This record gives sequence, structure tokens and C-alpha cells, in this order.
Amino acid sequence: MTQPTTTVRLPQAIVVGDLADALGVTPVDVIKELMKNGVMATINQVVDFDTAAVVAADLGFEPEEEEREAGAPDAAVAEEGADTAPTSLRLAEEDDPDAVTRPPIVAVLGHVDHGKTTLLDTIRRANVVESEAGGITQHIGAYQATAPDGRILTFIDTPGHEAFTQMRARGAQVTDVAIIVIAADDGLMPQSREAIDHVRAAGVPMVVAINKIDAPNADVDRAKTQLTEVELVPEDFGGDQVVVPISALQGTGIDELLENVLLVSDLNEPKANPDRDAVGIVLESASDRQRGVIATLLVQTGTLRQGDAVICGLTSGRVRAMIDHEGNRVKEAGPATPVEVMGLADVPPAGERFEVRKSEKIAKREAEDRRRELAARGDEREAVTLDSLFGEIHKGNVKDMNIVLKADVQGSLEPLVDTLDDLSVDEVNTKVIHASVGSINESDVQLAVASTGVIIGFNVQPETGAKRLAEQEGVEIRVYNVIYDIIQDVEQAVQGLLEPIYEEQQDAVIEVRQIFRLGRRNAIAGSYVREGTVTRNSRGRVVRNGEVIHDDDLSSLKRFDDDVREVAAGLECGIQINGFTDFQEGDEIVAYHMERTR
Ligand code: GDP
Repeated sequence: MTQPTTTVRLPQAIVVGDLADALGVTPVDVIKELMKNGVMATINQVVDFDTAAVVAADLGFEPEEEEREAGAPDAAVAEEGADTAPTSLRLAEEDDPDAVTRPPIVAVLGHVDHGKTTLLDTIRRANVVESEAGGITQHIGAYQATAPDGRILTFIDTPGHEAFTQMRARGAQVTDVAIIVIAADDGLMPQSREAIDHVRAAGVPMVVAINKIDAPNADVDRAKTQLTEVELVPEDFGGDQVVVPISALQGTGIDELLENVLLVSDLNEPKANPDRDAVGIVLESASDRQRGVIATLLVQTGTLRQGDAVICGLTSGRVRAMIDHEGNRVKEAGPATPVEVMGLADVPPAGERFEVRKSEKIAKREAEDRRRELAARGDEREAVTLDSLFGEIHKGNVKDMNIVLKADVQGSLEPLVDTLDDLSVDEVNTKVIHASVGSINESDVQLAVASTGVIIGFNVQPETGAKRLAEQEGVEIRVYNVIYDIIQDVEQAVQGLLEPIYEEQQDAVIEVRQIFRLGRRNAIAGSYVREGTVTRNSRGRVVRNGEVIHDDDLSSLKRFDDDVREVAAGLECGIQINGFTDFQEGDEIVAYHMERTR
């Protein structure tokens, strides 16, 4: 365990894996601590000093910032760098006294053709105020809509759990509330379940919209009953799941849906401080021949302004122009506002984080540092595998073993889920976070990455894309044909997660009958083994008048003059014990060893 007051020097930016090394803990420990502080990061991601310091302090270290290297090549940068407070990845929403309520960020998920796109379009059409300039509504990856009470909501415009989990796998947790769309005429379908699992794994609250209530075969009650099967019990069934019947096509129930999304979001009260430098996430990005790199950035906290210098993953730049979701040129974007931004040097991946820096030079230099760091790390990716991950987190606090389970038929899925969930022992939880029929796909891999889990396939194979992604992300896919093998492997991994328990096993009870002194510092206890068998590897506890006066390893065990491995009951022997010479006639030595019982 960590020392309570060890000082640890940390650089301005550090990769999660390196931070773990610096603290002498496992990467999973660090990731767990980050999660506690609201930061989703993978092992290969870079966190800034402030964030690293929070983790270090939580783990009992006293963090100290490393000074910038002397003789920095760019004097101007070094000078400016002195007053560049690195922006913390921790959004500090709860701690920031200047934080105010911000619009909730909402994602829409569900089975194909259940009406996700129609819902997003209807909300946009009915609730987005046309701009005065009459700007053409733009699809920039997200938009803001107004609820009947005048409050604003931000919608992520790319529906589906693939996008949702892909962002999360990159460490970006942006969604405050998820709307699960289920068509009333079709009911709960495989992808509905999948979406629910993905949202659950992310710990995001859900509102269920039962759509297409206008359709001839609509059966809202059936959909509600199906929801109870996945432990989402609607309020009118006595549970606490918010369910709103709607028709996205006809615009029925949309206001009620928005009101309910706001109600659910109010429970967590999303906050942000508009008066700080902006931090946020890339929603989309592309390269345009005329305009250069165009990225949709979603501001999470702070205000992004035209002219701001930004660092974004491995690239950087200056905000040359910003366009909002209605196509208007804007000069600033506050919390939960999506804007299309021009001015980045390269196309950043979706889910990448951006932060404002004091100058373009600083941002550029930091991006270069990150690229160098990444190149230096090379293939050092650590894989999430049954063997390594679970062996690795053995000493840590992570006690959940997250499993994504795929099988060929429903019939083998259910017993497997039950069996795997039953393998939980004491403080270690085996948790099947998603189980479905079919080959292992990319979305399964993303879910495993985002949840630091493993993928188990029974009689199914990974799709080519999934296999590539798993290799790239270092996620383990294990494929089995025999159920027993799955159980055995998982059981073993769980055992690896448990703190071992050692119990004392008594070897022998011995009487000390005569003391042989060999100079001042040495004594042999001439003894008689009353019961059991003492071995050379035993420990000896010296008991006098019922009191233990010494306890340590035997340093020698002899029969006459010969070293022996063991001496059985009824025989005499000479015993020496580490660190003890004060034997007296009549002492009792209890010989024992520690045995691992778990
Ligand atoms: P997505 O795949 O979930 O994005 O589904 P879409 O939004 O593309 O919708 C699939 C189909 O369902 C389209 O033909 C829509 O017109 C239709 N649809 C969507 N919402 C409704 C609804 O409320 N009622 C009816 N009757 N049809 C709908």
C-alpha cells in the first residue's frame, strides 16, 4: 500500500499508465480514482497535472509539480508557460463556487427503425427557434432545443449506442440523460437491450420513449411489460422508470418527453462555470478542401471564444470562426453549446477532449509533447485480459469483473449469465454488463473498452472489424466451445482478484529439555517432539508459562549433529530459532506454518 506522505513529482501532462507507474499502483487503480472524480480515461490517455494531482492525493501521495525543463527551446513559450495554469480535466462542477446550472446533454439510443432520427428531427423542427438571420439549420452533430418551460436542452444528433460508447471508450462522458426509443408496434428488440446495457454501463440515467403510438399495431402495455424484463419497471407498474408514450412522426408527447428529460436531469443538476477557459469534447470532425479542418466541439464547461487557442488531443490550433447549429456565425459558446469550429491543424477523433490554452504556441508545443510521448510509448499498450488485468488489479480496489458475453443461441446465453453472475465471491463481483446472441462486433469491443471489461464468446467468433479494434485497444476476446471452460477461467480470474487468506497450520508441539550454549550469542534447544512433525521450514513459537515470548522461523533443525528436514513425534532434536537464544528448560515450542486457504 502507499505511504501516507510520500511526495511524488509529476509533469504537466502524464499518460495514465505512466501515472500508475509513478505512484506504484495499477493503471486500474488510477482509472478508478479518475472515475471517482468524474473523469473517464483509458490507460493511454494523457491527463494534466491538476488531474494527476487529485489522483495522487486520493491515493495518499503529496503531489508536486515538476518544474519546466530548463533551457526550453522557445523562450516566449517558456515565459508565457509560467502563468499557464493547466486546465484540469476534472470539470470541478461540484467544487466550483462559480458553477451555474447548464443545459443537460441528451443522447438518443434504441433499435434500428424505432424512430430515433425522426424523434431528433421532430424535436429540432418544433423546438429550435429559427434564427433572425434566417440561417439554414445545419447538422453539426448536436443542437439545442427549448422545452415548454423555456429551458434549453442539448441533443447529440448522432443516435445509437455505437457513437455513445465510442465516445465513452475514448474517455469522454458527455451525456447527462439518455432517451431509449422503443417502437410500440415492435417492442423491445435486441438493439434496445444493447442500448440499455450500454447506457447502464455508463451509469447514465434513462428516460424511455415508447414511440409510434399512432401505428396500427401499437401496444404500449406490451412494451412496458417487456421493460420490466430488463429491470426497468415503469412508474405506473410500481417502479421508478420514467416512460413517455410518443409519436415522433405526429409530434405527440414530445413536450412531455422534454419535461421528463429535464426532471431526470434535475436530479443530478448539471453545472458548469461559464467564466473559465473552455473544456469540452469533439463530436465530429472532417477536413474540407476549402475551409480546412472543421470540428464540432461541445463545450462542457467554460466559454469558448473566437480567437481562443486550443489543444485537442494530439493537435492544436486557434478558433478562427465558429458556427452554431442554426448556421449563425457566433463569437462565443458557453457550457453545453455545440459549435462548428474552424482552425485546428489536424482532424481530431470524435470523443477527443479540447482545452483552451493561453496562446497558440503553448497549445502547439503541448500537442507536440503529447505526440512525442505517444511515439515513445510505442506499443506499450497494456491489454485488458483475464490473466493480466485481473492479476494486476488483484491488489487494487477494483472488485468488479465486467463481462461482455456473446453466444450463438439464446438457450445458452441465459444459463451462462446466471452462472457467471453466481461466480461472484465475497467482495469480487462478476458482472455480465451485456449479453446477446450473435458474433462479437465493434460495439461489444467499445463497451468492453469503456467498462474495462473482457469479452467472452460462446460458439461465436469476432467480426474482422471487432478483432482489429480489440487488438488496437488491447481488449481481450476469449472464445470458447465448452461452457465448463468459461466457468473455470472466470473462476480462476476471480480467485486472482481476492486477497489471499493465510491460516496457521500446527506442525508439532515440542518440549525443550536441555540447553546447549554455543558462546554468548548462540543456543540450541535440545528438545523432544511430543506430537506432530516439525520441519526445517516450520516457524517456532516459544511459549513459557502460557505466554508467547518469541515467534520466528527455525534457523536450524538437527538430529545429533546432522541437519535434517523433519523430525517426527517421539524423537529428540536440536532446534535453533531466528533471533532467540534465551531458551529455558521446560519451554514449549509450537512449530507451525502458514497455509494459503484462498
Ligand atoms: P431510426 O433508425 O431509429 O433512426 O428510425 P427512423 O427515425 O429512421 O424511423 C424509421 C421509420 O419509422 C421511418 O419510416 C419513420 O417514418 C417511421 N417512424 C418514426 N417515428 C414514427 C412514429 O411515431 N409513428 C409512425 N407510424 N412511424 C414512425
